Amino acid sequence: MNDGAAAAQDLAEGRELHAFASRLFPICRSITGNGVRETLRLIGERVPLVRHEVPSGTRVFDWEVPLEWNIEDAAIVDPDGRRVVDFARHNLHVVSYSEPTDAVLDLPQVLQRLHALPETPDWIPYRTSYYQRSWGFCTTARERDALRPGRYRAQVKSSLARGSLTYGELVVPGRSRDEVLFFTHVCHPSLANDNTSGMAVATALAEWIAKEPRRYSYRFVFAPGTIGSLTWLARNERRLKHIRHGLVLGLLGDPGALTYKRSRDEDRPIDAIGACAVSGRGSTVGFSPYGYDERQLCSPGFNLPVGRLTRSVNGGYPEYHTSADNLSLITASALAESLGACRDIVEMIEHDGRYRNLSPKGEPRLGKRGLYGAVGGRHPGRREEAFLWVLNQSDGRHSLLDIARRSGLAFRELRAAAGELESAGLLRRVGARAPSVKGSTARRRRGTRIGRKP
Ligand code: ZN
Repeated sequence: MNDGAAAAQDLAEGRELHAFASRLFPICRSITGNGVRETLRLIGERVPLVRHEVPSGTRVFDWEVPLEWNIEDAAIVDPDGRRVVDFARHNLHVVSYSEPTDAVLDLPQVLQRLHALPETPDWIPYRTSYYQRSWGFCTTARERDALRPGRYRAQVKSSLARGSLTYGELVVPGRSRDEVLFFTHVCHPSLANDNTSGMAVATALAEWIAKEPRRYSYRFVFAPGTIGSLTWLARNERRLKHIRHGLVLGLLGDPGALTYKRSRDEDRPIDAIGACAVSGRGSTVGFSPYGYDERQLCSPGFNLPVGRLTRSVNGGYPEYHTSADNLSLITASALAESLGACRDIVEMIEHDGRYRNLSPKGEPRLGKRGLYGAVGGRHPGRREEAFLWVLNQSDGRHSLLDIARRSGLAFRELRAAAGELESAGLLRRVGARAPSVKGSTARRRRGTRIGRKP
């Protein structure tokens, strides 16, 4: 495919990602409740997600699955009977997990319950009160400042009741039972970059992974932040030993450059892979115990080899956790680039390896094997350059990823070069750490279906 065709395909793909994020955007999600179920239903229309329901009150490590929250309506009605703060207009207008209430208040009491952002007077803040029973509203500073003294009525028609926490899971089985984990959270209401971008990219990535047979098995978890990842960890503790690599996906649609955040140990294979995926188009940052699900996955009791792929980091863009994190903040091209980086990461996970040059004394003659352009130029083409790098570095010690780092060439180009050199009898793969292979029945060669594991 030429560059123009590739760019057109990226754009089409980016638009599809944006369209899916737009379908997810209006849903009022929280850490439990029907918003999460509806979200998982939409994702489940595209990939065969298995939905798990974990009852309220279930202990998960030092935490407990909370009561389930659902909301029907909420508003602050002014003395003239107008809904001046209205959940029906934007679901950020109510503090998430607000308990039911119906109160008559004067203006100072209303203001105590009303959050706004004076520095950005047209944006509604996003606020939650998951673990402390409370209720409240959010609005723009401009609308708040326009409120006149008088008697107001604040109504929240919500329910906090025994129910369950919902998360979705999907496994694409590979030849090995070694797993790659992708984790994204699904608990934010109408915020586009934070979380719909992650959900859209993760869904498209799962579809793409399932299109061809894979060496590793891939597990996708769509769960609410913190309590959802803790719940998943508690229910899957014995499975964690199979996780070889993992990535938390989130904040993948804003125009900022890509960021790879390292795992807790900072020297796992995923850290080299993630750094390679963003090199030249983004940056790598060190681990910190703040952020998304890596807080739990990389807690010392698990210390999973899990990094995070993000564009602007959490809190790193002004629209973060406000109504300005909307569908105009996320772009088709940023979403497409993020998905492309995820695919690159999968390609590296699947195909990195070390090789030995079988003709290491001097350069082998590539021309007579049809591997070198017949007409010599001032500079070798990229394909020739890739041959030279792979041949030079393939002493059994350097992996393709090492060569990518050193040469500045793309992993994809080096992998293609290694394949051609191998076919020409100049290279042999060595020391490939075969992932543990399942029983022969699972060793399917033909297309990998998206499957379900118990
Ligand atoms: Zn967030």
